[in-house]
Amino acid sequence: MKVLVPVKRVVDYNVKVRVKSDGSGVDIANVKMSMNPFDEIAIEEAVRLKEAGKVTEVVAVSCGVSQCQETLRTGMAIGADRGILVETGVELEPLGVAKLLKALADKEQPQLIILGKQAIDDDSNQTGQMLAALLGWPQATFASKVVLEDGKAVVTREVDGGLETLSLTLPAIVTTDLRLNEPRYVTLPNIMKAKKKPLDTVKPEDLGVDVAPRLKTLKVAEPAKRSAGIKVPDVATLVAKLRTEAKVI
Ligand code: AMP
Repeated sequence: MKVLVPVKRVVDYNVKVRVKSDGSGVDIANVKMSMNPFDEIAIEEAVRLKEAGKVTEVVAVSCGVSQCQETLRTGMAIGADRGILVETGVELEPLGVAKLLKALADKEQPQLIILGKQAIDDDSNQTGQMLAALLGWPQATFASKVVLEDGKAVVTREVDGGLETLSLTLPAIVTTDLRLNEPRYVTLPNIMKAKKKPLDTVKPEDLGVDVAPRLKTLKVAEPAKRSAGIKVPDVATLVAKLRTEAKVI
């Protein structure tokens, strides 16, 4: 059984992003880029399923600029068997990515696609859902446990105030939540091994997909800066300030 894992190259989660001065987006020049953390969890889960003998092949897919190859190599160092880069300089939107993944799924015929629940750069939380709709496959989002048995995926989901368990007929889409697993550290020998694993490159045109943007970003703004606090001498002053200045009581 083959599992496809889409992995996105995003600004590293430790980087404090800066908004461009013209408000057109976020400055990513000379910024550290890494694999989207939820996608690391997705690769780890697929690799664990392979180690448990439930899966035979794990294929990592990334859509974007040629540097996404590094993201794919990281995926292969965690344990993916091969990588596919869908190379394009176009800034991709979730619908474009979902269409590319649909075309690849038609070609590769995986039984399971595990995506991250969201990319930490655009916070869209859309790609997995759109892909499920395009393929007509069942989906379980925000997974905290995945069990494969008898042609089904039994997925425990984190929902408001509790857990929900669903049984999906394969092929199916799963998106990962934070508590699904803790990805392993990538070791140097595995990084070296990953360099020798196959990595194919295709273009959106090869897949017959139009990825032209459908959305226009009007404005990106920093959150309002927090102003410095003050010390008050006593409770009476605090209450007075809360009433007359902050106007919260
Ligand atoms: P989003 O809908 O943008 O929040 O992304 C959700 C998930 O879709 C990510 O965690 C990835 O698994 C996948 N994904 C989104 N964009 C890409 C991309 N450019 N290449 C590969 N996978 C992607």
